[in-house]
Amino acid sequence: MSTPSDLLADVFGFDAFRPGQGEIVEAVVAGQNTLAIMPTGGGKSLCFQLPALCREGVTLVISPLIALMRDQVRALQEAGVCAGALTSGNTDEETDAVWQALEEKRLKLLYMAPERLASSGARAMLTRIGVSLIAVDEAHCVSQWGHDFRPDYLAIGALRRSLNVPLAAFTATADAETRDEIVERLFDGEAPTTFLHGFDRPNLHLTFEAKNNPRTQILNFAAARKGRSGIVYCASRAKTESLAKALRDVGHTACHYHGGMEADDRRTVERRFQQEDGIIVVATIAFGMGVDKPDVRWVAHADLPKSIEAYYQEIGRAGRDGAPADTLTLFGADDIRLRRAQIDEGLAPPERRLADDGRLNTLLGLAEALECRRKNLLGYFGETDVTCGNCDLCEKPPETFDGTTPVRMALSAILRTEEWFGSGHLIDILLGHSTDKIKARGHSNLPTFGIGTAYDKRQWQTIFRQMMGHDLVRPNPDRHGALQMTHAARPILRNEATITLRKDSLKKTKSGPVVRS
Ligand code: ADP
Ligand code: ZN
Repeated sequence: MSTPSDLLADVFGFDAFRPGQGEIVEAVVAGQNTLAIMPTGGGKSLCFQLPALCREGVTLVISPLIALMRDQVRALQEAGVCAGALTSGNTDEETDAVWQALEEKRLKLLYMAPERLASSGARAMLTRIGVSLIAVDEAHCVSQWGHDFRPDYLAIGALRRSLNVPLAAFTATADAETRDEIVERLFDGEAPTTFLHGFDRPNLHLTFEAKNNPRTQILNFAAARKGRSGIVYCASRAKTESLAKALRDVGHTACHYHGGMEADDRRTVERRFQQEDGIIVVATIAFGMGVDKPDVRWVAHADLPKSIEAYYQEIGRAGRDGAPADTLTLFGADDIRLRRAQIDEGLAPPERRLADDGRLNTLLGLAEALECRRKNLLGYFGETDVTCGNCDLCEKPPETFDGTTPVRMALSAILRTEEWFGSGHLIDILLGHSTDKIKARGHSNLPTFGIGTAYDKRQWQTIFRQMMGHDLVRPNPDRHGALQMTHAARPILRNEATITLRKDSLKKTKSGPVVRS
């Protein structure tokens, strides 16, 4: 049987749990009665869909909205999961297919509207088909005092008793009265395992930095926290090894960890990390599942994480004890290129790639944010009531400038060269450098040649990176990563929109270049 994290990737195509999901999935898989309160958009459906695949028999899903049920069934079927719905919206063929899958014991999830439960044969049918779990979406509909009261929900408690199976209830409504009523009516007053998220981890300090001299940036961050346990995440196996060595060379206790190591060696690192104080593990994302050290004081990303979910999960390994912990995430144009290429070259179907692109954009939006990181991050997970004061941008708002003119210059350089070149050559054009490549292509005759000398090379690099971060331009995988304009850039090119960019305040680092901003 596959583990929940295998299924998360293989069936749902996600690289990490969202906040709260992992614990809820674990409890539901273990057959506990659960009540999970998560904000809308937080990812509730995964919390019963994934356990349904881990458990024997059929999971009965009760949901008040037929359109929503049909959407979920369609998405599950597209992911290769045997799921069906019995609703008033069904065609005869759909209903026949559900019955057949039930007869053949293939069906994993059966969606039903609550009014169906009242029908005479329903309970007998549900007993016969081997329901092993009941999931109730929008559980607050059982509350008489709410706006969404559905009398049919009152039958669910009795159904649970007669089937004698665990029940998992989900809602976004968190007030105490509603919660009490849910417990009373769905669980006969016996308190279920309750999850109330609350995704904020206020003890985590959040910082992002543009890559300048990445190795030095990580070494400096670690040096300021010497003797305290930390994790450094890298995008490649080779880098975990070289960075761990660099940390040891300056006196840290550090090991590397990645999926290419022998199982025994990996276990040794896991054990050392768990037991020793002040140890650093430099790892790929392979490190983390099952790591549960409460006093990890810092997490650094030497490369941009894969998605905003992965970011939240990885920084979340710091400060589990509630004491202050620091996080640093580095990002650069190369990361954006790498992550886009991974999506483009992946085998996922087009809709999933589109969603992955969207999630990457959200993470890049967080990296290039102009205001509070925490508001940005939690807003994405549906939480709006956020106070912070514990991120780099709250402490020091970034200097910004009106980037409209340079962005238009850059876009024009891209279009004049017909989207065949990368940022290095485009910057040479903008700065009027007569390189061999410029001469060979005759690019010194372009009207854009030399129009960008108000900015230096470094500044142009940050402008191009931010253009990628705002998804105004994308590397074209069919042209060796040459930059291509996206639809989002049109209004700027046409002078119908403006754009505010950050001045990267690149710090002077010991061995790194000194950069003006
Ligand atoms: P709700 O909590 O409102 O029911 P959904 O279950 O519909 O939320 O999920 C909201 C969105 O989040 C969906 O588009 C879903 O694909 C996405 N999502 C859920 N879990 C994850 C995850 N672990 N990683 C990335 N996206 C996720
Ligand atoms: Zn903040």
